[in-house]
Amino acid sequence: MKLMGKLFINGKIKVLTGLYIGASKTDAAIGDIDNCVIKTSEGIPYIPGSSLKGKIRSLLEKSILDEIVKEESPEKENLQGKNNSKDNSVNAKNKLNLCTCGSENCKICVIFGSSADKRSNEAGPTRLIVRDCHLTEETRRKMENKEGEFKELELNYTESKWENVIDRLTSRAEHPRQTERVPAGAEFDFQIVFNLLEKQDIDRFFYFISGLNLLQDDYLGGNGSRGYGRIEFSSFQVGAKTISDYEGKNEMEILYDGTLQGFSREKEEFADKLMKKLGLNDNEDL
Ligand SMILES: [Zn+2]
Repeated sequence: MKLMGKLFINGKIKVLTGLYIGASKTDAAIGDIDNCVIKTSEGIPYIPGSSLKGKIRSLLEKSILDEIVKEESPEKENLQGKNNSKDNSVNAKNKLNLCTCGSENCKICVIFGSSADKRSNEAGPTRLIVRDCHLTEETRRKMENKEGEFKELELNYTESKWENVIDRLTSRAEHPRQTERVPAGAEFDFQIVFNLLEKQDIDRFFYFISGLNLLQDDYLGGNGSRGYGRIEFSSFQVGAKTISDYEGKNEMEILYDGTLQGFSREKEEFADKLMKKLGLNDNEDL
């Protein structure tokens, strides 16, 4: 397998409800907020590429699990009774949670990479690179000047929210804690690179896109059950570079410019354009 080309998704992530992606304790500055969001060395919040990638991966894995459980359970119930079917779904869950099979037939491992050791890893090189997402210049400027929706912002780029924390063991409410969040209305730039090594990678790319759709209906970061972390992909552009583009002028061709929803509708058209650009035809197998 060798690289045929790369796809680039560029766009914006719009925060619809306060976003909390926690910093580890050692990163957090000493202050009065218990739960700080992760920030760059300049003190500006960002979304680590690894957080975005991990969330999309887990949503896709969960969606496969749902399929498996749905398919298996009616049959198993008839054959073995209810209790066994429950056990099986738990087993399936454990098995599929962060798949490490490394099989070339596993979309998850091929796209996102696998920690399977080299000898058993047929999945080849990881197709996906997710870059860190930084606040757009416009959001940054508005926040710094406390303009528009950020008029009431308490901190430079964030707000703080009091939450009653319930102790899970005792079910008793502990004293309220402050959580820092990126406020609704903030926008981040994002870039995702998808390497194309074989023809099937086009289908794998569409599968990955379905994970972005799942994320829009879920949440990013922590405290999702309290309504945190709803996001939307507010603009969506997909460009491509082939190996000969790299050898030549190194220019990317934009193959789609619009919205995530629009892209999902028009993916057949996109596939045709991309196949043509890569010099592939429908019947040829690599
Ligand atoms: Zn796998």
